[in-house]
Amino acid sequence: MADIIELSGDIFQVDLKECGYEGRTAGYFVRGKDGWMLLETGPASSAGAIMEAVKLLGIKPEQLKYIAVTHIHLDHAGGLGVVAKYFNEARVVLHPKGARHMINPSRLIAGAYNFWGKEKMEQYGEVIPVAEERVINVLEGDVIDLGDRKIEVWETPGHAKNHVCYYDTRTRGVFSGDALGVFSPKLSRLLERPVLRPATPAPDFNGELMFKSLYRVATSKIEQIYFTHFGVGRPSQLLIENILGQLSVFMEMGRSYSEQKGADEKNNEQKNLENLQLEMEQYIRKGLLGPKKNLEKTGILTEQDWEFQVNMIRMSAGGILQYLNKVKC
Ligand SMILES: [Zn+2]
Repeated sequence: MADIIELSGDIFQVDLKECGYEGRTAGYFVRGKDGWMLLETGPASSAGAIMEAVKLLGIKPEQLKYIAVTHIHLDHAGGLGVVAKYFNEARVVLHPKGARHMINPSRLIAGAYNFWGKEKMEQYGEVIPVAEERVINVLEGDVIDLGDRKIEVWETPGHAKNHVCYYDTRTRGVFSGDALGVFSPKLSRLLERPVLRPATPAPDFNGELMFKSLYRVATSKIEQIYFTHFGVGRPSQLLIENILGQLSVFMEMGRSYSEQKGADEKNNEQKNLENLQLEMEQYIRKGLLGPKKNLEKTGILTEQDWEFQVNMIRMSAGGILQYLNKVKC
């Protein structure tokens, strides 16, 4: 049974059960007078969860007008081609820098294979091309009109060059993709404060652009954030300030390592990365466990929760160092 949560303002959050995990990746269905819009398909292996949600929500295939993704990382858009095939009327909405790689996904697949490896790629499922004539390339300021509600496009590069957020004017909520970090509703509930992490993976992370995008969203009139990972977060200002703060800390940590040079450059880079990963991990461990020292021991924070946090921090450390090394040259 698909997990669907009805949010206010005719928005429905669907757990896409990414690679079998609950509470990791969400897609959102938005209802307007002229039809429906789906934001984020998840990977191809999540197409079943989408189809089940469509059935439960009573959406007829011709009523789905738009399928939009925030960027083309496979956990957000890997299923775009597969899902689009079921909905002949739907236009596919994304940034032009991403669109070309969904129309011809060979480079996207090769890059993802390199990054994720065979096992994960099999879990994500097969990426199939999107027909070019169905694509709407969107840029800053473009508007998707659903009749009685409008969805604005905000360009928010930093996590990826092709990243956009979608802003729903009715609920003043932003579908944030990965631009505003990865939110953990479970840990936020347990710790009674927001727990989220900036997502800064290699090779696309650009610190300057991410800061700019964060300021741009922070100074907009938003009231809530629809996180792809995962669920609704508010108050938005507190969440964005939290991400800005963490990003500043991690970038400074990264800077101190990227400035360390050694005789053996290759070995040194690997060592810097390991040290940064360790320092970031210790930092978030202190933040998570500080207020409730026994959290880990009580088993409330499961092995899986912890592993997820640590893996993400490790990936983020790699992106930060790679970016800082690039700007140094
Ligand atoms: Zn991403």
